[in-house]
Amino acid sequence: MISLPEALELIEAHAKPLPSVRLPLEAVHGKVLADPLVASQDIPLFTQSAVDGYAVFAADTVSAVEGLPIRLRISGMVRAGQYESPSQPLRGAIKIFTGGKLPRGADAVLMKEAVREEGDSILVTRPVAEGENVRYRGEEFRRGAVVFPAGARITPPVLGLLAGFGRAHVRVHRAPTVTLAVTGDELIPPGTRLRRGQIYDSNSLALSAAIQEFGLEPPTILHLRDDRDATREALGSALEDSDVLITVGGVSVGDYDLVKEALSELEVKTIYWRLAIKPGMPNYFGVRRKFRHSHLVFGLPGNPVAALLSFHQLVKPALARLRGYRRESPVSISARLAREARKKPGRMEWVRARLREERGELVATPLEGQGSHMLGGLAEANCLIRFPLEEDRLEEGAKVEVELLSWRD
Ligand code: AMP
Ligand code: MG
Repeated sequence: MISLPEALELIEAHAKPLPSVRLPLEAVHGKVLADPLVASQDIPLFTQSAVDGYAVFAADTVSAVEGLPIRLRISGMVRAGQYESPSQPLRGAIKIFTGGKLPRGADAVLMKEAVREEGDSILVTRPVAEGENVRYRGEEFRRGAVVFPAGARITPPVLGLLAGFGRAHVRVHRAPTVTLAVTGDELIPPGTRLRRGQIYDSNSLALSAAIQEFGLEPPTILHLRDDRDATREALGSALEDSDVLITVGGVSVGDYDLVKEALSELEVKTIYWRLAIKPGMPNYFGVRRKFRHSHLVFGLPGNPVAALLSFHQLVKPALARLRGYRRESPVSISARLAREARKKPGRMEWVRARLREERGELVATPLEGQGSHMLGGLAEANCLIRFPLEEDRLEEGAKVEVELLSWRD
């Protein structure tokens, strides 16, 4: 058995970014930049006003005071999108709107609200500082500067920046394709009638949703019976068809746990099997290299909580690498334990809990239903308490580390 950090290192070593494709900007939200974004022009591209008001020469206003205002004649107007200065060099004040190019000779802008307008003049009652309400050319990005390194995720603001540089296309990493193969003779789809001993398949839907919430296309879903030949055959073609194969169930030590055997017959090399974590001990990771392309295989445990948490903690980092970025480790924060918790030493345990603030302090309360099959506890949880591998008891009031639980990242 290996620990979670060891497993994550092995995953990192085998998951490499997929090749890049050039796509229109409309199609890249959520994808990852394959090249650095280099500023193709200064931003802002020209020195402009940050407000609606009057462009002036600051030195003209030095002696302005409330009781003795300075009168400046309005000698013209600049609107956003208008480039030529109406008056050169500047005399008096020029009416200007947000984003309008600062006329030559002006070095400051007075907000409309800060002056008194009187016919074709304004009255200025205080000195204006040079640069006031001015956005200078290149003050945010200089042409040639690296705005983002390769590997940045394209969030809405990144998309806005790309558009702001006039980009219509960008190179991004291809997104991995995923097959989800759910195993078990006992499983039937929701909406059909249960016979004795059967249960509804909950993992297909829950994992498929988690995959999509992570920003990927819906996976291909296969339902496999616990049968040697059928399992081998189905997993064989799934391996051909997708970058990542996720199997669910059948990866433990039972007589009908056939997944590992089938994968080894399909020349998938085992990288790890069994982790010192709870829930999620019967976890498998393997790789098949073919024509310089690696296919990754995750064998997740069948118990629904174990399956979802394993996806969250092991598969997401791999998918992130294939997509071209490193998933940030979930934020770990320190909280006070609301009541005692016990376990056997030897495995790190994730205790499903709710975190709340109480008199300025964060308090984590373990939830009922900590079994690997008990989805209720996971559904209610907003955090996981890290119960360290060697510990067997955490006392009430103890300081514990918790990870916030978000399905999105
Ligand atoms: P296994 O890992 O195949 O031994 O399954 C462990 C437990 O998880 C068993 O109780 C299975 O019935 C249950 N299980 C496996 N797959 C699913 C699934 N897709 N939906 C709900 N429960 C499942
Ligand atoms: Mg099974």
